[in-house]
Amino acid sequence: MTNDETSTQFIVAVRPRLSDCEVCVRSAHFSLVRSEGRPVAHGYRQRMDRLADDVWHLPLAPRNSVNAYVIGDVLIDAGVKFMGGRAVAAARARGVTSHLLTHAHLDHAGGSARVVRELGLPGVAVGAGDASDVARGISALPAGTPRLVQRLTGHFDPVPVERELREGDIVGPGFVVLDVPGHSRGHIAFWREADRVLIAGDVFFNLNVLTTMPGLRPPIARVTADPALNRRSMRRIAELEPSVVGFGHGPVVRGAAPKLAAAVAALPPD
Ligand SMILES: [Zn+2]
Repeated sequence: MTNDETSTQFIVAVRPRLSDCEVCVRSAHFSLVRSEGRPVAHGYRQRMDRLADDVWHLPLAPRNSVNAYVIGDVLIDAGVKFMGGRAVAAARARGVTSHLLTHAHLDHAGGSARVVRELGLPGVAVGAGDASDVARGISALPAGTPRLVQRLTGHFDPVPVERELREGDIVGPGFVVLDVPGHSRGHIAFWREADRVLIAGDVFFNLNVLTTMPGLRPPIARVTADPALNRRSMRRIAELEPSVVGFGHGPVVRGAAPKLAAAVAALPPD
């Protein structure tokens, strides 16, 4: 490990609206872009934290409430639609050439149509079980969800699927695809055994979505296709004893193995 391991970079996802924006002046999350001292644009100040060799964490929203990652030249997830510009800016800064999704939910795939369009990519790679939902822009809610709720809240801009991923496929700098279904039918995670780094998506949440307090827990049942199946995936991931784990929601966890073990020990027996 080098000193670079903990390095942090910022890039600004510019919004092309001339402004002397008070929000930018006051906020750690926004920045003014100046030319010859005058504000010419404003934008979100996208942070990128290096987690391990060739692995970067992109908190797309404050308090790590929505995350994306870059492994090598691969962008994993892109947040909700309005975060797509942030994902594009970070992807450009990291020289991204392909885009993967952990699963077909609107808070991960919502920014993907813009990423694919602006980076000129043929499409995304996604777990085989979620491919048709990504191609149709359907953010599937559990069986029994009222149809009106599904219609009002269960959609994002459709994205072409370039590749369907399966257990054992290799992506990016030495990451193996894990089939970890439950939160969605085709949810996948990315595991690099050499340094025990895992990008887990939403198999766990590391955030209470109401209070934004960190803490490992199962994903919200209301948006989880099969909670019992997801608990099986949680146990599988804990048994890998990962060292560094990145989640879709909540801060990255280091020294993760005992924390994940404690979280799955608290689950109801299946
Ligand atoms: Zn999510």
